[in-house]
This record gives sequence, C-alpha cells and structure tokens, in this order.
Amino acid sequence: MDINILIFLIVLIKILKFIYNLLRKIYIKIRFYNYIYKNDIETECVICLDMINLNDNVYITECGHRYHLNCIIPWFKEQLTCPLCRFQIIL
Ligand SMILES: [Zn+2]
Ligand SMILES: [Zn+2]
Repeated sequence: MDINILIFLIVLIKILKFIYNLLRKIYIKIRFYNYIYKNDIETECVICLDMINLNDNVYITECGHRYHLNCIIPWFKEQLTCPLCRFQIIL
C-alpha cells in the first residue's frame, strides 16, 4: 500500500472520529434540553391553567399529558379525548 494512502486513511479516520464525537455531544445536549423543556411545560394543567404540584392528584394520559385529577374527571364526562392533543382515551 502506498504510504500516502495510509496517512490519508489515518487522517480520515481521525476526522470521522472527531465528527462522531461532536455529533454525540450535540445529540446528548438536545436530549437534555428536550427533557427539561418537556418537564417544564407539563407541570401546567391546561384545563385550569394552574401549576401541577408534586402533592396534587395527577392523571397522566396515555399520550403523556398531565392534568389535575379534579380537572380531568369533569372533562372526561363531556368527551373522552386528551384536551391537549385529542388523543382518544380508553378508560
Ligand atoms: Zn387543573
Ligand atoms: Zn395528549
């Protein structure tokens, strides 16, 4: 094998490894950001627009949205969908 090709391959592998590590770091940061953002918006109950506290009775729908139990029960008497995304609820 030509020594120039060998050097070229080694450099190429190093560049690819660098890009891979960079993308991994970006990916982890995006996941971390999404996690915080999601947790942040999901602490609000969209029915009463109040915050959901840790010691409140919470109903989590299959689509992952959270509501106060006291807010979602009257809503379910009207319609069996998620107020946020209209996901069909099966009780
Ligand atoms: Zn509520
Ligand atoms: Zn939903």
